Amino acid sequence: MKTHARVVVIGGGVVGVATLHALVKKGWSDVVLVERNELTSGSTWHAAGLLPLFNVSYSVGQIHKYSVKLYDKLEAETGQPVGFKKVSNIRLARTPVRMDEYHYYAGVAETIGVNVKFLTAAQVKEIWPLYEEEGILGAIQHPDDGYIQPADLTQALAKGARNGGAEIYRKTRVTGIEEKPNGEWLVKTDKGDITCEHLVTATGNFVRQTGQMVGLDIPVIPVQHQYIVTEPHPAIIERQKQGLPEMGVLRESDSSWYMREEAGGLLLGPYEHGAPCCYVDGPDEKAEYELFQEDLDRLAPHIETAIARVPAFGEVGIKKVYNGAICYTPDGSPIVGPAWGKRNLWLNEGHSFGITAAGGAGWQLAEWIVEGEPSIDMMGVDPRRFGPYASRGYLKEKNEEAYRMVFMLHYPDEERPASRPLKRAPCYDRMKALGAVFGAIYGWERPNWFAPPGYGFDPEEIEKPDVLTKENHAPVAPGEKVKELWSFRRSNYFEHVGNECRHVHEKVGLLDMTAFAKYECSGPRAEAWLDSILANRIPKKVGRTGLCHLLSQEGGVRCEFTVSRTGPDSFYMVGPGAFERHDWDTLTKLLPDDPGIRLQKVTGQYGVLVLAGPSARDVLQKITDTDLSNASFPWLTGKMINVGIAEARAMRVNFVGELGWELHHPMEMQNTIFDLVMQAGAEFDIKPFGIRAMTSLAIEKSYRLIPRELSIEYSAYESGLDRFVHPNKGEFRGRDGLVARHAEGDKWKYVTMEVHGVTDADARGSEPIYRGGELVGRATSGGFGWRVGKSLALAMVKPEHGAEGSELEIKILGEMHKATVIPESPFDPDNERLRA
Ligand SMILES: Cc1cc2nc3c(=O)[nH]c(=O)nc-3n(C[C@H](O)[C@H](O)[C@H](O)COP(=O)(O)OP(=O)(O)OC[C@H]3O[C@@H](n4cnc5c(N)ncnc54)[C@H](O)[C@@H]3O)c2cc1C
Repeated sequence: MKTHARVVVIGGGVVGVATLHALVKKGWSDVVLVERNELTSGSTWHAAGLLPLFNVSYSVGQIHKYSVKLYDKLEAETGQPVGFKKVSNIRLARTPVRMDEYHYYAGVAETIGVNVKFLTAAQVKEIWPLYEEEGILGAIQHPDDGYIQPADLTQALAKGARNGGAEIYRKTRVTGIEEKPNGEWLVKTDKGDITCEHLVTATGNFVRQTGQMVGLDIPVIPVQHQYIVTEPHPAIIERQKQGLPEMGVLRESDSSWYMREEAGGLLLGPYEHGAPCCYVDGPDEKAEYELFQEDLDRLAPHIETAIARVPAFGEVGIKKVYNGAICYTPDGSPIVGPAWGKRNLWLNEGHSFGITAAGGAGWQLAEWIVEGEPSIDMMGVDPRRFGPYASRGYLKEKNEEAYRMVFMLHYPDEERPASRPLKRAPCYDRMKALGAVFGAIYGWERPNWFAPPGYGFDPEEIEKPDVLTKENHAPVAPGEKVKELWSFRRSNYFEHVGNECRHVHEKVGLLDMTAFAKYECSGPRAEAWLDSILANRIPKKVGRTGLCHLLSQEGGVRCEFTVSRTGPDSFYMVGPGAFERHDWDTLTKLLPDDPGIRLQKVTGQYGVLVLAGPSARDVLQKITDTDLSNASFPWLTGKMINVGIAEARAMRVNFVGELGWELHHPMEMQNTIFDLVMQAGAEFDIKPFGIRAMTSLAIEKSYRLIPRELSIEYSAYESGLDRFVHPNKGEFRGRDGLVARHAEGDKWKYVTMEVHGVTDADARGSEPIYRGGELVGRATSGGFGWRVGKSLALAMVKPEHGAEGSELEIKILGEMHKATVIPESPFDPDNERLRA
């Protein structure tokens, strides 16, 4: 066994082995893998082997697509058969809203190049003669999808890796991990120690124990998952004799199960309600090929619906039930990328579709390790998308929820109920009393919109038989009554959100943005350091504020901050709340060991209330001594002000494009400030507004967001950040990559579009954009702009189609609409309202 290696991968399941294989393909051969038992002895051996391409996440969709392509070539590369059967995958729809979901997903699929087809119920019958058509409205099919033999796949990847110089040590258990003072990792095993530069963990169900070894609470806890295999069925045997093709994978999403042929019989895999978490502290040290006692009661409702749909399933006996652990995270997507707070420690954990994801996840992780950045936007799977709030109790509830919701309709405005409310701003109860309907972001409760008095809708809407979406209409928190009707189209809160937008535009509104991530940076070398990592010029004058981006090496956008100079040597920085851990980790990894720079995270210390609208000055001036006139408090400046008896850092910036101030205040003074503002605002008819109104207002200003319009996949120039990027100011992170990429020619152009002919479904982001039948781009955001009275989409398109006036088409829920590229910031392009 080697004592030194460039990379050690822990875990010989499909994910670890695929990572090893990808590292070798990237040209690193001094790489080893350690497996405590035999390859695949964890979760991999008992997986059903399905390779579902369906995934609405942009990151995961691309990962899955890559895997399927890789697996297709693996036998030719290694000589090892992998048992890949491209039998196709059919998802049935019983409700119109499920068809909407499929059409929405088809847009994502088209933009990432995944082949999908829509089928009628009768066409499904031709492919799946054993199924009953009744109640089926249609289906979506992935012709290139199918299933594979997970153990053979793992062996083939292992062979490919070994051929490239990698070594695999089976029966070798990692017992401890130490970070050495020189930054290397010491991996202690029961067969000896290995020192390495990079350490990758891919330990599946053992992740809780691995986390303990490295001092991280990795937000993964497995859940029990079962599938049933029947005895052979004569009709299937007969088909085989006749040489007919396999019927493929059938998914009845509305009944939460998948089915396929298996050895002449059928295999049924449901996602049940009540499947419990397991291995909360990890499996037993001696665990191998472990399965749990089956739970037939939990399976019964799914068996019933499966028999109704495929009667043959009930005509043969059950051969075996598998009940194994499947890793879950709070949002159901895996954890792939750098560990927070640790250098050269990489996590490839939490895979619930690990057979499908392994190839793509290994590919991107290998790029990240070898080249310093992945090439696709990995925000959807980044380990740092969860924060310390995702602790054990939270995870147990949330991961069980993610499991039971695998097949639920995932609406664009979906808000899941488990583990809520967790983090509450002090004004939570006040907002609730005003009718707030909350959403959750990074554990924080935030008002999404406000239900006016008397709000309600016909309960029959959701009580209709066979409308399965009703389960999603959960109360916002246990015991609360406000419900919203989710949809892929304009929903029942559309008008109310519109009223909030109009109110902010005509009068004045108050928004809670306490969830913002906040940082302070100070010291004699703080400015020089910020200047070396951010693409914009650092504000020179005390009180000035600027929008600054931290770029990837290749000139894409990794983080965005509003940077305010609060003193000669001190800065206050605000970033998106959802990326607090990601951004903090990125900043601290770039921070030199220099006592002249002090960086602190202060999110929990400060609340943020945003006062916006034409009367904002009148309201605030009533309760502060500070002169708020344009002359003494211009746009893009900030200062400490008193708000009655309290104080706040008032910053004249906002994300809605109206006159206004963000009030960053000590958290414990929030309710005092809230009451003062609401009292002072009464004569101006102040009303609260929520995130959905803010989003609509921001789209009208063409404001960009990570990971939509801003991403590592697009250069800062492609995202239209020219005025925030200054290559001539001197060296900064990502400058050379940005300049080189720009010199080669931009591949994308950020545009704002007016979408024509919309009646009830605006773009949401991810819709494909065409010109004369050719795919020329994708929408990144969209919605109705209430101030301009237009349906809008923000998009990245090929530069030759990005000129103002360019006539394009956008496909929304399967329907083509004309779309015209219009000038940026359709509302108030000269920012007169902001400067008012
Ligand atoms: C019933 C069932 C059906 C499924 N069906 C599908 C499907 O159809 N399609 C799909 O994509 N996915 C499916 N899955 C999920 C899939 O099985 C997993 O996502 C996948 O196997 C995860 O692979 P892994 O490599 O991350 O984990 P594992 O296969 O569990 O591998 C982790 C490895 O790490 C090793 N290890 C842990 N700790 C240490 C240590 N300290 N030292 C050394 N080695 C260590 C373990 O021994 C283990 O071999 C299914 C899961 C279940 C339970």
